[in-house]
Amino acid sequence: KMSPEEEKALLSEEDALSARPVQIVVAHEDDHAFELDEAALERILLQEHVRDLNVVVVSVAGAFRKGKSFLLDFMLRFMYNQTSCSWLGGHEEPLTGFTWRGGCERETTGILAWSDVFVVDKPDGSRVAVLLIDTQGAFDSQSTIKDCATLFALSTMTSSVQLFTEYGRLALEEIYEKPFQTLMFLIRDWSYPYEHPYGLDGGKSFLEKRLQVKQNQHEELQNVRKHIHSCFSNIGCFLLPHPGLKVATNPNFDGRLTDIDDDFKTELVNLVPILLSPKNLVEKEIGGSKVTCRDLVQYFKAYMKIYQG
Ligand code: GDP
Ligand code: MG
Repeated sequence: KMSPEEEKALLSEEDALSARPVQIVVAHEDDHAFELDEAALERILLQEHVRDLNVVVVSVAGAFRKGKSFLLDFMLRFMYNQTSCSWLGGHEEPLTGFTWRGGCERETTGILAWSDVFVVDKPDGSRVAVLLIDTQGAFDSQSTIKDCATLFALSTMTSSVQLFTEYGRLALEEIYEKPFQTLMFLIRDWSYPYEHPYGLDGGKSFLEKRLQVKQNQHEELQNVRKHIHSCFSNIGCFLLPHPGLKVATNPNFDGRLTDIDDDFKTELVNLVPILLSPKNLVEKEIGGSKVTCRDLVQYFKAYMKIYQG
């Protein structure tokens, strides 16, 4: 029989292991400082079964209320039900994960990581660890542009794939620092499918148009357009339809599929495997070499030092 102390220790261990979003970088708005929770990061990345695997870091970045958590929760469903063709979930099943789990929906600027690191076997026989990240910036008056740029730079430097969420437009003006591997713009509430159809192909033609450098553009905007191709080896864009009025406006919406428009679900089923199916997983590389979970901890610490200096 366990002693009360042992029981307590076991319970807190279970609690520490139960899957949830964990804040690893906190942005303090008052003094514009960033803080890395090294212990939290290590608890996630130094777990024995993942620490020596090459890491795939998929980050969803954007401002508050851009549907990051909503999307991440579907990405979690995919990761937890890899082998099932019905990974999207049951019709009446509330969505859980980054959203709608009391306590973690504090609107804090910073970086959250999902505490479960997923182990996936790729078709080429390699085994990788997949880390899902939510990067929340703020483009309001309270946080300066620099803070926001710093946060996105940090998340981009530590990610292999970064999704940038934006509603109905493409905010190239808001991307600054030098990032690396794959950048995917995710345009929500796209309402011109007759001009550019939903999905990856429509996104591609839309992006090409938006990335054109024009004579009458402000020089800064011209530079962003020229620079962006030299920063990323892979740039994509995906156009998502509006998810429906219940999602957008009903305060009691809990994420269940019955309340989401069919068009949206169709595109979601296309989008998530593009990002997360085993053959599409992109391992994080730094300086041309793949990085393990253990290495990533060190890089996080080093990057934090750079940005604090
Ligand atoms: P986050 O702050 O970026 O994590 O945003 P949330 O995922 O919490 O979503 C914010 C609100 O937007 C919620 O009420 C969602 O139901 C809603 N939402 C999620 N995705 C979309 C979308 O694609 N379009 C619209 N219009 N609303 C969305
Ligand atoms: Mg959120």
